[in-house]
Amino acid sequence: MTNISGVLILQQRLEISKGKGGALSQCDCAPPSPSARWPQCDCACTPAGEGAVLALDTATHALRRAEPVVTAGLPGGYTAFLSPYEPFGRVAVLDPRAVQVWHRLPQGTFRPQDLPAAHRDLLEPMRMAGLVVPAEARPAPLWQGPPPVRTYWVELTPACNLRCPYCYVDKQGPVLSVEVARAFLASVFQQARQEGGEVYLKFAGGEPTLVWERLVEIHRLAAALAREANVPYRPGLLTNATRLTPERLDWLAREGFSLMVSIDGVGAFHDHTRALPLQGRGTFEQVDAAIRQARARDLPLSLSHTVTRLNVAGLVDFVAYAVEVGAAFNLNFYRPPQWPHPLAPDLEELTEHLHRAMDWLEAHLPPYRIIDGLLDRARFDYPHQHACAAGHTYFALGARGQVASCPMLLGREGASVAAPRVEEKPDCASCPWRYWCGGGCPVLAQAAAGDIGAASPYCPVYRSLYPRLVRLEGLRVLQTVGAAVA
Ligand code: SF4
Ligand code: SF4
Repeated sequence: MTNISGVLILQQRLEISKGKGGALSQCDCAPPSPSARWPQCDCACTPAGEGAVLALDTATHALRRAEPVVTAGLPGGYTAFLSPYEPFGRVAVLDPRAVQVWHRLPQGTFRPQDLPAAHRDLLEPMRMAGLVVPAEARPAPLWQGPPPVRTYWVELTPACNLRCPYCYVDKQGPVLSVEVARAFLASVFQQARQEGGEVYLKFAGGEPTLVWERLVEIHRLAAALAREANVPYRPGLLTNATRLTPERLDWLAREGFSLMVSIDGVGAFHDHTRALPLQGRGTFEQVDAAIRQARARDLPLSLSHTVTRLNVAGLVDFVAYAVEVGAAFNLNFYRPPQWPHPLAPDLEELTEHLHRAMDWLEAHLPPYRIIDGLLDRARFDYPHQHACAAGHTYFALGARGQVASCPMLLGREGASVAAPRVEEKPDCASCPWRYWCGGGCPVLAQAAAGDIGAASPYCPVYRSLYPRLVRLEGLRVLQTVGAAVA
């Protein structure tokens, strides 16, 4: 927080650390969710974006106002600002006088000494917020940072005990053999040893807990290879949580796993899509129990919710549930194989229910930051140029030994799609949200427009909701950091 001559700029203190369970946190600048350092979904973080605030002397250096920045109005005349030059996605809240100073900064390049003294004093906090930048700063925020996290989706089995109507996995096929896993992982850890970076294995399926012993075996194999190569290794499990016993949860906690639970709403909304086909009953009760048991063990936990036409009306209840249990969560918009698709949510209806969910969140603001992975593929915790890491630092290993750049492409032709840079997408290149959005899932763009370079068909929803995310975080900063001022 900066309070210079009564002019206020509020911003969360910057702290960077490793999260629980070895989870790498690009930024812990906000109190983390009690259960997870970062929200996760079926995808992977983007390959760029780590970095540090550019160091410079704001007393002498030639500067300019950052463009583009996005803003959102807050109560009391405050304004939330988010700049792509703030490498950790921190939202700054400016009081009306600070906003005025920012707007009155000269157009183009200026020297700090040319400004009135009172304005000069605000340059340093504005630089920290990414609102003023060195005159020579590149328009694209290419931050220098640590080597990337290499993420690998490991399909242990395509089999599943559920039959979710939107699932793209062909349930027939073998269990991943230890020999195939060994050959693949040996080259993964070898590459990480040579080039640097961490290895993150996301064990998935099908339903990976159906082959629990194989999960244990391959995790141990990976841990041994990581030790041998002296490479940091993090395991994660994406599960429908119907087979997570207390003993299994204890093991996951001991082994440092993070847990992603697929859940498609609360009560009947979840049960409607996630029922046990043979027993003919829903699974919400079991999943809820597993989530609460995971929380009791302090497992890093993220809830992954696929939003379809079937459950879009339950979004407010789901958001309230996630906040009540204290879990990070991600709302994945359904990515069908063709567009339009009968299960894809109607865009207007989706927008309306998401706005209602935002209304609920504003009225029940949690003390921790929640905006980072809340809305589909958008990541607000660091500016980036790709919607995801597919084909860059993210690959999927199928149970048959096939490799693709994304699990949705396992066994398909064109399995090596790489997410394009957002500046290369004609509809996205000048969008003010491009460095947090990335332009959406390339596989969906291909399905919808026949071109991975097309903007996401969900673009109108993103554009309507992104300002709400900045406002939400601005309100939280006002409430938490601002409380210190009162
Ligand atoms: S998909 Fe839409 S919101 Fe996202 S970067 Fe492209 S134009 Fe902007
Ligand atoms: S291509 Fe789409 S589904 Fe695959 S990792 Fe990227 S965003 Fe996710």
